[in-house]
Amino acid sequence: MTATPATPADGATLWIDLSAVRENFRSLARHAAPARLAAVVKADAYGLGAGPVSEALAAEGCRDFFVAHLSEALELKPVLPEDARLYVLNGLAAGREPACAAAGVLPVLNSLDQAERWSRLAPDGGAAPPAVLQIDSGMSRLGLPEAEVRRLAGDADLLGRLRIDLLMSHLACADEPDHPANAAQAEAFDRLAAALPDWPRSLANSHGALLGPRFRHHLVRSGVFLFGGVRSQVLSPRPVVRLTAPVVQVRDVPAGAGVGYGFAHVTRAPARIATVALGYADGWSWNLAEGWPALFDGQTLPVAGRVSMDSITLDVTAFEAAGGRLQPGDEVEFLGAGRDIVDAAEAAGTIPYEILTRMGRRLQRRYVGGPGPLRQQGAASR
Ligand SMILES: *Cc1c(COP(=O)(O)O)cnc(C)c1O
Repeated sequence: MTATPATPADGATLWIDLSAVRENFRSLARHAAPARLAAVVKADAYGLGAGPVSEALAAEGCRDFFVAHLSEALELKPVLPEDARLYVLNGLAAGREPACAAAGVLPVLNSLDQAERWSRLAPDGGAAPPAVLQIDSGMSRLGLPEAEVRRLAGDADLLGRLRIDLLMSHLACADEPDHPANAAQAEAFDRLAAALPDWPRSLANSHGALLGPRFRHHLVRSGVFLFGGVRSQVLSPRPVVRLTAPVVQVRDVPAGAGVGYGFAHVTRAPARIATVALGYADGWSWNLAEGWPALFDGQTLPVAGRVSMDSITLDVTAFEAAGGRLQPGDEVEFLGAGRDIVDAAEAAGTIPYEILTRMGRRLQRRYVGGPGPLRQQGAASR
């Protein structure tokens, strides 16, 4: 578990609710059963912290973890339970095979060339360490294309030197349930898989798991659902993150004053402007600006002007005229109950994945709903 830093936050805080992550895992696992549910914790668990998030998921019984890079896997491996399986989605660059095998990490072999290189780890008459094989069912991104699948199927020698624990592919349009590509990819996957030995299969990501049993096979690979970034009529997760920023200054501004870069906001009357420590350098989208107010004490505080690198200015005139009071050190909320990353993505013209993975290094990440003292700390300061 990453310890909460002892130094107080000068800037904004990303609150990560590990009990919500666990609950999301439970609900999707129940939905996907009898398929097993794997957690995709690439890109530092979508910016939430691969260590604490994976520990929470492991405590919930998760034993399959996917990252994108071998370097991510080598970092995460010591955190996971001994019996957990850890996979590298992007496969291996030439020469990285021994390091991957030594760490007991399973590469996703994405081409015949990668499969051949991995097979060279096999001892005479034996098989290389376990791996995953990915085939391209239509996304044209990673995995063996049909021609390579056929060549592999006909190469008994190579097949004999590989131990494949999972055959996988990936859906391009799973977040659009009615898209014809979903059924087409499911069919292509089944058809290509039938040419190969009868290995366990995996096709679905989070959205794919919600498309129905035919997409779930033996293993479902979920990231964004676990982290609260899905809204679906079939099953929706609980929000996981909350984002708060401290007030650094509140000032009186006369009528007709320009506020912030480009004077994108000009006061019509004397105003009270609060500056808070959250900016686009923290990953908060420049596109949100006046389209996404802050909340304090249940009241809406409109943004005045642009998002700066390190700050946002709020118009608190109406709030204070109604008897509210905002002071330096107070924390205003940008994401939280009733306003989640799905809403923010819509407002910013992007996807929940990007809202999460852009969350900056500078944000203090604090974990709530986890085991031990972190839970008390988090709960107390909430
Ligand atoms: C990122 C990724 C996933 C997880 O996708 P979500 O939509 O976040 O559930 C699953 N499979 C592959 C191959 C991926 O690259």
